[in-house]
Amino acid sequence: MKYDHIKYDYDCIVIGAGPAGLMAACCAAEAGRRVLVLDKNNIAGRKLRITGKGRCNITNACEFDRLMENIPDNGKFLFSSLKRFSNRDIIDFFENIGVRTVVERGGRVFPASQKASDVAEALAAYTEGCGARILLSSKVTEILTDEDTVYGVSYTGGSRDVHTVYAPSVIVATGGLSYPGTGSTGDGYRFAQNAGHTVTPLRASLAALISKDEFIPDIEGLSLKNVSVVLYSEGREVYRDFGECLFTRNGISGPVILSASAYYRPGAHTYISVDLKPALDVNMLYERIKRDFSGYDRKIFANSLDRLLPRKMIPVFVKRTCIDPHKQVNQITREERMKIAALLKDFTVGIDDIDDVRNAVVTAGGVCVKEIDPRTMESLKCRGLYFAGEVIDVDGYTGGFNLTIAFSTGHAAGTAAALK
Ligand SMILES: Cc1cc2nc3c(=O)[nH]c(=O)nc-3n(C[C@H](O)[C@H](O)[C@H](O)COP(=O)(O)OP(=O)(O)OC[C@H]3O[C@@H](n4cnc5c(N)ncnc54)[C@H](O)[C@@H]3O)c2cc1C
Repeated sequence: MKYDHIKYDYDCIVIGAGPAGLMAACCAAEAGRRVLVLDKNNIAGRKLRITGKGRCNITNACEFDRLMENIPDNGKFLFSSLKRFSNRDIIDFFENIGVRTVVERGGRVFPASQKASDVAEALAAYTEGCGARILLSSKVTEILTDEDTVYGVSYTGGSRDVHTVYAPSVIVATGGLSYPGTGSTGDGYRFAQNAGHTVTPLRASLAALISKDEFIPDIEGLSLKNVSVVLYSEGREVYRDFGECLFTRNGISGPVILSASAYYRPGAHTYISVDLKPALDVNMLYERIKRDFSGYDRKIFANSLDRLLPRKMIPVFVKRTCIDPHKQVNQITREERMKIAALLKDFTVGIDDIDDVRNAVVTAGGVCVKEIDPRTMESLKCRGLYFAGEVIDVDGYTGGFNLTIAFSTGHAAGTAAALK
């Protein structure tokens, strides 16, 4: 066996200097292990630096049960790692390495400085401070295995020369397929497959939704604040939220829609209902319209909705009521006023698809959880091989849950690899 005769350069090699990889590396290094982190980027934590619109929603300060509820895909697999390194531990960890945190709406935890780069830099500095070596601009091309045991990796450095380093444990923390410009181009899936793993179908989660409705291009760029949104799948309500949405060139996006998209299932008949006036019920709205219209008798319908809707939306809205836009407001019937009120409460947008995985916040699918030990993140197919972060088939909703997954699985993998 090849690995019997090898002189190991390191005790542990971590592929990827993202949140999962850095957390794994500092845990193994803290335990006194010789650790090498390889990342193809020329900076550590490239994606981490753009998270939370540059503010980094580190984790969520919710109760443990809520944490599990917010990780719908294979959340159970994370039970053990989250119990040992939970959202509370993540907050303590960052406070201890000098990142003061604040809790905002919905339990979202951010650095007090509001700078994601502070989180990335503190984590990378701590990892190096623990003794790990971070080698940047180094792309791993192959994981070396023999007889179902890992013994090192090959990588190309700046000069494109191929180097080989040996270690009895390798942690794959290469991320998913989303935002490939940050380095996550799906290499980890290939490494996993080469080591005998199944990779479940990869798809976008937390992404814009695509709509082929004809009015969409007419309201591109329109942002609606304080609206209530319901996602229906096969006629059933599957998600409801309140907040902001934004119409794009080919669909709908914005914070509420990204969260809703986690419930989108390709092929299922899906639509979104936007309540444009959530503070008023349909009868109150009817009275409000009646009052508004009685104030401007001489106006035509198309010019009478300024106080109810953003200007850009009015032509689209008027068209959908099927009421003649040139009709005098004082001619509008009771039924027509009811129709306007009903449309304000239920403005539907058909959903035909989800945006490409490359534009998504996270990648759903990944290395099959049945083939990974949930306590250690070690492969059940190849000894000494570990997985951490988004490369695994787990993903959460918005609110800091995806970084929680990365930190917690990174902690489990690094701690276990150190004991090897
Ligand atoms: C715009 C945006 C905003 C987000 N905001 C939040 C947020 O506020 N809160 C939250 O919880 N989640 C957020 N997420 C999700 C979160 O960033 C990811 O889930 C998380 O970064 C995954 O961590 P990771 O370490 O598994 O992978 P990544 O962060 O993707 O890191 C993987 C690393 O591996 C490296 N790598 C890949 N292949 C190789 C190779 N062959 N050789 C060497 N290195 C390699 C890459 O260069 C990369 O640095 C956001 C995502 C995006 C895109």
